[in-house]
Amino acid sequence: MENLDKCINCHLCRDNCDFLTKYGIDICDTDRLRELAYHCFLCGKCTSVCPVGIDGREIIMEMRRERASSDERTSIEDAYKGLISEKRNYRFRNWKHVTSGSIFFPGCNFPSMYPKTNKMLSKLFADNGIGTVYECCGKPVAELGLAEDEERIINSIREKLREASVTEIVTACPNCRDFFGDRLGVKVRSVYDKLSELGAGKTVKGDIELYLPCPDREKKLWVEELRPFVEGEIRINDSAQCCGLGGSAISCERELADGFVKKLGESIDDHIFTYCASCVGRFRRSGLKPVDHILPFIMGTDEQPDTLKSYLNRVMTKVK
Ligand code: SF4
Ligand code: SF4
Repeated sequence: MENLDKCINCHLCRDNCDFLTKYGIDICDTDRLRELAYHCFLCGKCTSVCPVGIDGREIIMEMRRERASSDERTSIEDAYKGLISEKRNYRFRNWKHVTSGSIFFPGCNFPSMYPKTNKMLSKLFADNGIGTVYECCGKPVAELGLAEDEERIINSIREKLREASVTEIVTACPNCRDFFGDRLGVKVRSVYDKLSELGAGKTVKGDIELYLPCPDREKKLWVEELRPFVEGEIRINDSAQCCGLGGSAISCERELADGFVKKLGESIDDHIFTYCASCVGRFRRSGLKPVDHILPFIMGTDEQPDTLKSYLNRVMTKVK
């Protein structure tokens, strides 16, 4: 585990995190933190504010991996059996349309929430020789600390890409892109970057307010890549620590997760965009109406998230 001796006990991690505040602990309080490892949203805020470079998120991930490889494994798997049964060996996987060169990888949630826009993107990409692959990147399972499953999923995707001579993955989900990083040996880019290259997509009129999903909050790669599609200014709203879905912590910390949504709701001027379908689903299901995914507006469908039939839409990706 990372050397915590350099911690200067400044409490900045605690002051910036509702979870650490609730339990009155800092990242260096490892005994208590280990007990509470599955209560953390893995949002990375503690990592970004630590003045001495301690990676709190990674420390908690290591704690989860330790616990998931101990005799606690069965109870952990039991607690998250719904997620594991869908994503450990992704049920709705579909590689029928894989193409050599570039593929479109929309992930699990974008096609679930925005089937019409996803269909339009798949058609646009198919017209440009880019096939669509339905697969889970493995992040939700990896975040439970199931390291062997994580390794197996990454190896399996890497092997399929190699067999099909894929050299580039176009992602619609910032979690997929962040999780893959450079682990697959192929270029991983955002859908906005690819749309710019193809000269496709409309411009969203006026200034916008933007909520950044956790994996892009520090690097802001996606913000830069979607900037060409926004006519006016992008105002970043960082009032919520996470949408509440991060790290599957919501099952332990429902109240904190609802508090994040409340904070965002109170801070929105009029309307807010984001670029993560999971975040939109979470906000909309919690009753926060003025939150939209920006991609349907760039594609001109102005599609609203299908929170009622999202599971069915995901099932359908298997037979596309
Ligand atoms: S990763 Fe997020 S929720 Fe977890 S301790 Fe750090 S700031 Fe708090
Ligand atoms: S922010 Fe960093 S240095 Fe400060 S208490 Fe937390 S872990 Fe220690």
